[in-house]
Amino acid sequence: MQNALWQAVQKKQVSHAYLFCGPAELCQKEAYAMAAALNCSNWQTDGPCGKCRSCKQMANGNHPDFMVLGTLDGKQKISIEQIRQLKQKAALRSYQAGYQIFFLPMVENFTLQAANSLLQILEEPPSGTVFLLTAAHEDLLLPTIVSRCQVLHLAEGEEGRLEDSREIFLAARDFLQSMPHTNEALLLQWSKNWEGKNSECLRFLTAMLYLIRDSYLPQGSPKELFLAEIAIPPLFGENAAFAVAEVEKSIQYLQKQVNLKMTLDVLALHLKQWCLPNA
Ligand SMILES: [Zn+2]
Repeated sequence: MQNALWQAVQKKQVSHAYLFCGPAELCQKEAYAMAAALNCSNWQTDGPCGKCRSCKQMANGNHPDFMVLGTLDGKQKISIEQIRQLKQKAALRSYQAGYQIFFLPMVENFTLQAANSLLQILEEPPSGTVFLLTAAHEDLLLPTIVSRCQVLHLAEGEEGRLEDSREIFLAARDFLQSMPHTNEALLLQWSKNWEGKNSECLRFLTAMLYLIRDSYLPQGSPKELFLAEIAIPPLFGENAAFAVAEVEKSIQYLQKQVNLKMTLDVLALHLKQWCLPNA
């Protein structure tokens, strides 16, 4: 657990919302440690005791005041209905007199409606509640959500990261737009660029996902992407839903550490197969 977090818990200077940015597993681990520390009744000098009732409930996954939204491996999209239920629960008191804690992993995968609904509760959090969010990178979230959270970056120790999200979106746009004109042999070279850069690749795929989704929104509807000047034409015709599902599946595979090259090769070949030849 990060020292700054631990000190905030000890001094009871806890924010209503924390956003952990970085690799999903690392973020989850840190958020759970934070949650355990918040409700531990017998702190040790270096963190939660691991023995009190609350710590045991956390370890057993049955703490009544710790709610996890959605599946941890990101299988399920978070819907607005789930956020509504969360709001109802947050309006109630905690069961055990401590903090009521909500863990919301991979907020970049929320639907836009769910993200907007979440924003409302972050703007007026009920007292005694703490929201622990995670994301691969804060640039993938609505800036209004990020501004409501205390942001913590967890190190991933990778070389050659693309620092700028704009750069990632531009690269994803260029890749998608080149698709109709690129032959398959060349597409299979693409995965080689990502070897050893798992988390950067996740950001790239998430950017691709946003670009494809946005290209199919009806004209005039609010876009999911806040980098509004970066957009692609609808490249996939009636196969758009397949393309979106395939990118989502690839993101899940990479989060589960499935072979990167295999995942990306399959993705590239499918996208190539589905894109319109004259797009
Ligand atoms: Zn404890």
